Amino acid sequence: MYFQGPMQHFINVHTHNMADNNAIISFYEAFEQSGTVPHCSLGIHPRYTEKTSYAQLEAFAGQGNVLAIGECGLDKLCDTDWSLQETIFRQQIALANKLGKPLIIHCVRAYSECSHLLAAAKVPVIFHGFNRNLRIAQQLLDQGFYLSVGAALFNPAFEPVFTALPVDRLFFETDDRDDLEIDSLYKRAAELKKIGAESLILQVEHNFKKVFNHAR
Ligand SMILES: [Zn+2]
Repeated sequence: MYFQGPMQHFINVHTHNMADNNAIISFYEAFEQSGTVPHCSLGIHPRYTEKTSYAQLEAFAGQGNVLAIGECGLDKLCDTDWSLQETIFRQQIALANKLGKPLIIHCVRAYSECSHLLAAAKVPVIFHGFNRNLRIAQQLLDQGFYLSVGAALFNPAFEPVFTALPVDRLFFETDDRDDLEIDSLYKRAAELKKIGAESLILQVEHNFKKVFNHAR
């Protein structure tokens, strides 16, 4: 168990807002500050590889309040050398396996490449900020991965995708959007799914326990 205090109701699985204490706060630098928050994830972001190092990550990733490794992954729209991105991603998958902690994935236009490398993952995997089409969603779901959805809930083009996603594979997140409230995301999602907000909240709590208790 990694919980330091209960995390429940309107769980925010990915944010960069240090003030949110019902969230997994994601750090891609300054890992030494992660000890000040109740729940976090630490990772080397493919866009910001120069901001930290694998040695730094390894030094802090074992702390009890570090619930997951990430965000990590592959990003085809950034300038980071591709083979470096792959190397760092592989290292983090191996670290997550070693620590038994889930992975939170940042993926931009590299779904097949991410999926390929994630075949090595022995821990649950959450793709954060999912906003793509149903075909990509289905490929990820078929591999057993979870999807975390944020601002895309307010994009009309994403509605038919979201309504088709299975609730037992979903999480919600505000990411870097300080203008978004996590409870408004749950409310919007429940409307789109035509289910009660309370049952959606309970379902995500269930998903959370399943994914994060897997990590012994
Ligand atoms: Zn993020």
